[in-house]
Amino acid sequence: MEQKRFFLSENEIPTQWYNIQADMPNKPMPLKNPVTKEDMKPEDLYPIFCEECSRQELNQTDSWIDIPEKVRQMYTYYRSTPLVRAYGLEKALGTPAHIYFKNESVSPVGSHKLNSALAQAYYCKQEGVTNVTTETGAGQWGTALSYAAKVFGLEAAVYQVKISYEQKPYRRNMMQVFGAQVTASPSMSTRAGKDILTKYPNHQGSLGTAISEAVELARMTPNCKYTLGSVLSHVSLHQTIIGLEAEKQMAMAGEYPDEIIACFGGGSNFAGLAFPFMRHAISGEHKGTRFIAVEPASCPKLTKGKFMYDYGDEAGYTPLMPMFSLGHNFAPANIHAGGLRYHGAGVIVSQLLKDGLMEAMDVDQIETFQAGMLFAQSEGIVPAPESCHAIAATIRRALECKESGESKVLLFNLTGHGLMDMAAYNQYLSGNLTNYAMSDEEVEKNLANFSL
Ligand SMILES: *Cc1c(COP(=O)(O)O)cnc(C)c1O
Repeated sequence: MEQKRFFLSENEIPTQWYNIQADMPNKPMPLKNPVTKEDMKPEDLYPIFCEECSRQELNQTDSWIDIPEKVRQMYTYYRSTPLVRAYGLEKALGTPAHIYFKNESVSPVGSHKLNSALAQAYYCKQEGVTNVTTETGAGQWGTALSYAAKVFGLEAAVYQVKISYEQKPYRRNMMQVFGAQVTASPSMSTRAGKDILTKYPNHQGSLGTAISEAVELARMTPNCKYTLGSVLSHVSLHQTIIGLEAEKQMAMAGEYPDEIIACFGGGSNFAGLAFPFMRHAISGEHKGTRFIAVEPASCPKLTKGKFMYDYGDEAGYTPLMPMFSLGHNFAPANIHAGGLRYHGAGVIVSQLLKDGLMEAMDVDQIETFQAGMLFAQSEGIVPAPESCHAIAATIRRALECKESGESKVLLFNLTGHGLMDMAAYNQYLSGNLTNYAMSDEEVEKNLANFSL
């Protein structure tokens, strides 16, 4: 029997994160102040984010950044996460490809989001912050931050998009179990929320409105900082623990991935798995590795969006970011992969895509659930709807290998389990799930209405 799972011992867990910004052939273009349009410096981010995260955000010189000992200690509660050879899936597909996945679903909160939540909460505590705010859509990030805040003795206030607050009460309960205060957004507790509710009393909420509320609360409250679970460069930095571990674990398996595949919301799990391997592609040590980001056909910012300066939120409170975007007022269809319903991509990934160092593809919702079903039946793990996108893409590639007879090594990121998303599987099983692909015309129309 060949080895199926690969683990690192505690002292092999990386002690530094990898900052790809330092090694990129073309650095990301600067963030711009939303009001003055001037280039942002770290100090300009301090009113919203903690100082260390602000510095990490714009750090384009240090390839390696130390993981604080207390954060690394918390990592050891669930890391290393296993690297798994998916023999069951390979057999089900009859493919000669070797399929591996990095299982981030084993974190205490069920997803990769905790890797950055712990770091952000730790730095806030160090800097004398007492309260943190954030928004959450699907609920994964809110859950991770709520737990991380509890670990480091901070109060957490989470704005949960109203429709998800109502449709996913157990997610809300999970955040409350970890001691967070959870508010449905839009709410009457902020100026931004009141404005929206005055205009649209039945507004169901969106990530854009929830971000505006959380940022406003952080700005108005002393010793309170805002935190974000994706998109930003410091979040991607923290997630590189995934790929740095995977690199060592692939070596234990005696292989090197030909293709690295990850689902794409704002880019943090893709960055986390891919960037440590991409450094070998940039240095020329490993040529020909393919890096594939997989997005929903209903929210195709990488495959159909435009590279431009855009805001991260609906109200325009965030810095302007140079990124692939569908426009900050884009309202994606209500697909189940809530973690992938974001209009823009991170600035690093956007630059890498522009420079041809990675590629992107999109998948329809029904294909993702078919992939999730096959994965569950062959590997025993019910995947999160977001993760199903990476699985669907991996299956496509594995079937191409079957056609051509190539035994490529495929590595994908299993970002989370789907045990809190069974309502989505229920809809799939009862045949009520639909596809919402966006046509080029719809994308064009949305971008044509676009103004800053
Ligand atoms: C948030 C989330 C994603 C997408 O976010 P990225 O920042 O693109 O990684 C993917 N999978 C799960 C389980 C998530 O919670």
